Formats: sequence, C-alpha cells, structure tokens
Amino acid sequence: MISVGISAGFHRLLAHKTYKAPRWFKNLSILIGTLGLQSTPLTWPAMHRQHHSFTDMSNDPHSPTHKGIFDTYFGVIFYQPRLKFVKDLLRDKDVLFFHKQYFKINLIYDLILFAINPIYVVYFHLFPAAILWHAEAAINVFTHMERFGYRNFDTTDHSRNSHILGWLIAGEGYHNNHHWRPQDYNFSKVKGELDITAKLINLVKI
Ligand SMILES: [Zn+2]
Ligand SMILES: [Zn+2]
Repeated sequence: MISVGISAGFHRLLAHKTYKAPRWFKNLSILIGTLGLQSTPLTWPAMHRQHHSFTDMSNDPHSPTHKGIFDTYFGVIFYQPRLKFVKDLLRDKDVLFFHKQYFKINLIYDLILFAINPIYVVYFHLFPAAILWHAEAAINVFTHMERFGYRNFDTTDHSRNSHILGWLIAGEGYHNNHHWRPQDYNFSKVKGELDITAKLINLVKI
C-alpha cells in the first residue's frame, strides 16, 4: 500500500504530473508516501526529475553506471534536493504542508501507534518503510543495469523492465516503458505486464 502511495502520489502525480487527481486522493497518496519515510513530497520529485533529466549521466543522482551499485543503493539518503527541478511544486500548498510537517506527521503517527501498542511502531511503520526503502533502492539499481530484465523500447538510457519488480512494486519495475514515455501514467505496455498503480489511477483520475 505504501509503494502505491509513492508510485501514484510522489512519482506519477507530483514528479511527472501524468494525471489529474481529486484533492482528497492527492493528499491521501502524499500522506501515505510521507509515512513511507522515503523523503518528502518535494525532495523525492526533485531527485526523480534530476534522474530523468540526466539519466545514466554523471549528474544522475542514482546511476549504477556512474555512482556504482553501493552508492546508488544507499547514497540517495544523503541527496540534497536541487529546488530548480521543483519550482512548480514550491507553489503547491499541499506539497509544502507535507514537506514542512514531514517529521511532525511521522512522529504523530508513531505516537498514535505507540499508544495502542508499542510494537505497532515497528509493525505498521518502521518495518514496512524499510521494505519499501529496499524496494525503491532495488528499482534504482537493477532497472538501470545492463543484462538485467528486458527492454521493450530503444531508449537512449540503460533502463530495463522487470516482471518481478513490476509485480512486487506497484508497476514501478517496468522502468524502460516509463523512460520511453514518462508522461504516461500507465507503465504496462505489453501483455503480461501488470501495473497495479495504473489500475488504481484509472479509478480515481479526473
Ligand atoms: Zn530510471
Ligand atoms: Zn519517473
């Protein structure tokens, strides 16, 4: 569920603006993404837009070709957002609210979980966030590694598709399809490619 929040909210709605969503869905997906502890709804799109602007080049914030597998996997933690990539989002009151209140929102969520049962902080926050963090790191590393997965489109970068990562991580594993048409919210391009996030967006987009 958190990966759908990141995928539908942070990625396809905020970073790429691939569809229009009702405000309740926009804020719900941003809230879920915020609780995913991947970074704020301003920082995440900044890094991702930089990735698309400089894919597999030296300015790419997470290119296994240039940064190596280890730095691509763990280095994103230390990413300093370049705000020139998110000038539009700096004018979005909803995004700014979740960006500014990022730590407070997560703290309040933890306090609520702790009050119900302290172990719930692990079960319903830290553990799923850790799984998601590894999933996102796996996307950044493996879907830009030559000889991994397959390609449908001859893009200028090294992007690859993976059924395993696509099925497990809300369609995000179809990364070559995504780099081919970043403005398309549907990452599934051929039979057998399951993009759960696109199916959800079909239900809520306006
Ligand atoms: Zn990519
Ligand atoms: Zn993208």
